[in-house]
Amino acid sequence: MKIFDELESEVRSYARSFPRVFNRAKGEYLYDSEGNEFLDFLAGAGTLNYGHNNALFKQSLIDYIEADGIAHGLDLHTSAKQAFLETLQSKILKPRNLDYQVQFTGPTGTNAVEAALKLARNITGRHNIISFTNGFHGVSLGALSATGNSHHRGAAGINLGGVSRMPYDNYLGEGFDTTAYLDKVLSDSSSGIDKPAAVIVETVQGEGGINAASFEWLKALEQVCRRHDVLLIVDDIQAGCGRTGTFFSFEPVGIQPDIVTMSKSLSGYGLPMAVVFMKSEHDLWKPGEHNGTFRGNNHAFITATAAINHYWSDDAFSKDIARKGDVIKAHLDRFAEEYGDGNFSARGRGMFRGINCISGELAGDISLRAFKKGLMIETSGAEDQVIKLLCPLIISDEALAKGLAIIEESIKEACQQFRRIPSEKDFFQS
Ligand SMILES: *Cc1c(COP(=O)(O)O)cnc(C)c1O
Repeated sequence: MKIFDELESEVRSYARSFPRVFNRAKGEYLYDSEGNEFLDFLAGAGTLNYGHNNALFKQSLIDYIEADGIAHGLDLHTSAKQAFLETLQSKILKPRNLDYQVQFTGPTGTNAVEAALKLARNITGRHNIISFTNGFHGVSLGALSATGNSHHRGAAGINLGGVSRMPYDNYLGEGFDTTAYLDKVLSDSSSGIDKPAAVIVETVQGEGGINAASFEWLKALEQVCRRHDVLLIVDDIQAGCGRTGTFFSFEPVGIQPDIVTMSKSLSGYGLPMAVVFMKSEHDLWKPGEHNGTFRGNNHAFITATAAINHYWSDDAFSKDIARKGDVIKAHLDRFAEEYGDGNFSARGRGMFRGINCISGELAGDISLRAFKKGLMIETSGAEDQVIKLLCPLIISDEALAKGLAIIEESIKEACQQFRRIPSEKDFFQS
């Protein structure tokens, strides 16, 4: 670990939770340089929905590279981009009746969010954006303004303006419809909330602690947006690409966002790629207004095309995600009941699930114990109190059962020993 301590910035984070040197990965498994195997329930924070080095996409990528296919071309037309757009149109957008234009932004999620916010502000001529408690939209300044987390916000070093925060679904407890509050403040010219350009929302908040909004709430949110002539942006960067069971997380809700951001698992291979979808009438960009050197990663186009062709040509994959999601839910419900003294709760949708352990210290201890047993799993939420299950969607039933068993053992042990604070020494020594 010496070179990492010596040379790499203190800003590193996941490496602290999983202090090993990894050198190989396949499917739902990661291997360290000593040959130890780890089951990966972190999956690149939702970037590896199709697993590590998916064999189906790897060959397409190797063939493309072997043939000297374009690796970088700014935003030039390439055959790789053409194939991706054609596949996206025929397999994703058309069957879902979605009339979206596609913008390739810089390759990170946060850049797609920047582009979406800019676009909404330019379309409406308004500056304000509504975002939600516990929302996470990235850490560049515009996206960070919309992000709730104080740890991330604190690093901005500048006022984070242009956003008004509203309570997410269930923030004020069950039975309190927070969209009614939003409707009220947008109707009241003296509410002090400037009329917004857009509302930006995650259908399931990932970094915010696996908070899944109800379909009723999301539908009501869309209605409030329509009533007040405000654009609806769904940030589907983590919840999209099948994590909740469908390509877009909002499909079963029956809403049609004006703008959608997508990244993380879109390339299918862990390659950087981010897009903004906007309804055709909202594509008011002028050429090059939002640019970037790495708009459209051609290698990512190759693997993203293969991913869509292979997994999204019919509904078999969706059904499999729903089935495994139910298995995960049943286990988490049982863990909550058996170990939480009535305090724990399972949460989420599809294969985007977690268990709220109330205490960040306890959740951290569970994650540490799991790692020692060969499972990588992270926490999220304001206090890092939610154990977050993000296993690859392609995980085998055996590996899923194994991962859930490790989680159960870790919860059981940690609960017995609660109040013991994990220390650095608990980690593997190398
Ligand atoms: C990860 C994430 C982002 C930011 O993506 P980066 O690639 O890390 O910039 C934005 N929104 C959501 C919902 C995310 O999960």
